[in-house]
Amino acid sequence: MANEPTKITENLLNVFNYCFVETVPYEFYKPKEGKDIPVNLEGKNYHCEKCGKTTPVRYHKRPLTYYSKGKLAEERKVYDKLGKEFPTMGQIEAGEPFWNEAVCLCTDCAKSSVLQEDTPEQRVYNLCEELHGLDDLVVAKAKAAMENTLKTWLGTATLEDFGKFDLTGFEGVRDLICAAILTDTAAEQKDLDAYTSRMEEIRKEIGTLLEDLPERFHAYAQRSVLVYESMNDKIYHEYSVAFPAEDTKPEEYYIYRPLEKKRVTMFLEQPRVETLDELMMEAGFHGEWIDLVTERLKALAGE
Ligand SMILES: [Zn+2]
Repeated sequence: MANEPTKITENLLNVFNYCFVETVPYEFYKPKEGKDIPVNLEGKNYHCEKCGKTTPVRYHKRPLTYYSKGKLAEERKVYDKLGKEFPTMGQIEAGEPFWNEAVCLCTDCAKSSVLQEDTPEQRVYNLCEELHGLDDLVVAKAKAAMENTLKTWLGTATLEDFGKFDLTGFEGVRDLICAAILTDTAAEQKDLDAYTSRMEEIRKEIGTLLEDLPERFHAYAQRSVLVYESMNDKIYHEYSVAFPAEDTKPEEYYIYRPLEKKRVTMFLEQPRVETLDELMMEAGFHGEWIDLVTERLKALAGE
């Protein structure tokens, strides 16, 4: 099927982000006076509501970021919740530095609470997150297993085995690596079977749970502090989007947020790896495998 490696995996990541992380679509847009509010946005503070841990994240410096009224009103609510005084419109217009605030759960607190919860809303999200992890894991495991088989083959290969391939060019080396990998695919097949069966269970369980949920519902969902954010609650565009500064350290928080049934379904219905061929295609071909072949050849020649 797919001729470009990681096509399925990349699509799954994009769709997961669209469904659960940054959900407003892109639109070409110019801020309108009276409708969009220019703010001197500096960054965002994440506060864990359980243990009090706080992570400040500075945004990439830019002149002004445009907020929709709805998004600024949401911010005011968060300030109120934290008991923090919200700046006056005069202060905002004067360009005083502004920070977004988020009340959420740190990963440790989420693990010991909401990620164990089985309310239908939270369970749907937790299962989607599990599937998202499995989508990546099955490919990572396949790559490791393929490398393992190659190493085993190289460990016992003789010069005669190498002689069956024309190793003067890249294609011949690639053919040798592929042939070596294909000598034993039992581990990849076993992982693929486990993935497929868990994926089917997850799809089925979510399908049943969604039947009784409304189109829009709320649950805690993971959000990396590295993800960009739109300050417009309907769309994102050049003037509304803020990116964390380059030196931001990766960290995840769980945010209580609206989720949509149709997006959950969209994530579930994406094409996923089904066959061993597809799995190996996703795992890709890696330059360091060529080094393994070269090293072994050198060792054999020196013997
Ligand atoms: Zn915490």
